[in-house]
Amino acid sequence: MKILVPVKRVVDASVKVRLKADGSGVDFANLKMSINPFDEIAVEEAVRLKEKGVATEVVAVSCGTTASQETLRTALAMGADRAILVESEAELQPLAVAKLLNALVTREQPDLVILGKQAIDDDCNQTGQMLAALAGRPQATFASRIELADGFASVTREVDGGLETLKIKLPAVVTSDLRLNEPRYVTLPNIMKAKKKPIETVKPDALGVDIAPRIRTLKIAEPPQRSAGIKVPDVATLIAKLKNEAKVI
Ligand code: AMP
Repeated sequence: MKILVPVKRVVDASVKVRLKADGSGVDFANLKMSINPFDEIAVEEAVRLKEKGVATEVVAVSCGTTASQETLRTALAMGADRAILVESEAELQPLAVAKLLNALVTREQPDLVILGKQAIDDDCNQTGQMLAALAGRPQATFASRIELADGFASVTREVDGGLETLKIKLPAVVTSDLRLNEPRYVTLPNIMKAKKKPIETVKPDALGVDIAPRIRTLKIAEPPQRSAGIKVPDVATLIAKLKNEAKVI
C-alpha cells in the first residue's frame, strides 16, 4: 500500500505575521517557516501505518518554491521514503494544488492520500475535498482516527454532536484533524538519513496542469486594534456600562 502525503510550507504557527505596506498580502521576508501542523500529523499517521506493516511506501509531495524542499526534508526525516517537489514560483491556490496533486495521483496511484484538513496560512480547507472530487475518490475529512482493513478505511471524525465513523473504499482521500496523533520529534540521525533520501522535482507544465489563479485578493487588513479594558468597582456599574455605553444589553 502506497500513501501520498501533501505537505505545505507555511509561516510557523508561533510567528506573528506582518502585512505588506500596500495591503496586498503578508510579508514573508525573514519569517520562520515550517511544515503545516496538520500535514505533520498526516505524515506521522502515514509513517505509523508503515511501521505497523499496513503501508509499504510513504511519498511526501509539496507544491511551491525551491524552499519547499526544506519541508519535504522534514517529512523525510519523520520517516517518508521519498519526496516530490512540484516546483513553481507562482502563487498556488487550492484548486491549482488539487489539480497538481491529482496529476500525481494519476501517476503514482496511491491507495491513500492523507492531507492536512487545512493550511494554517490561508485557512482554506479546500484542497483535500477538491482533490477527492477531481480524482473521483471517496473522501473522509477531519479524521481523528484511521483504520485500514480489507480494502476499506474506517475514519472517525469529530463532528458537532460527537464522533462519526465513516467506512470508505480505498483508494481514498482523508484529511487529518488535530487529535489524529501527536507527531514525533525528528532526531538528528534521522535528519542526516533524510539528506540521502531522493527528492524528485517536476514542473506544473510537465504535469499538464494550468495553475493560473482563479481568485484575486482585493485587500488584506489587520483586525482593528482592541482598546484597553477597564476595571469597574461593582456589578451595578458593569450593568450600567453594558446598557448605556456598550449598548449590548
Ligand atoms: P488548504 O485547502 O489550503 O487549507 O490546504 C489543505 C491541505 O492541502 C494542506 O494541509 C496540505 O495537506 C495540502 N496542501 C495545500 N497547499 C499545498 C501545497 N502548496 N503543497 C502541498 N500540499 C498542499
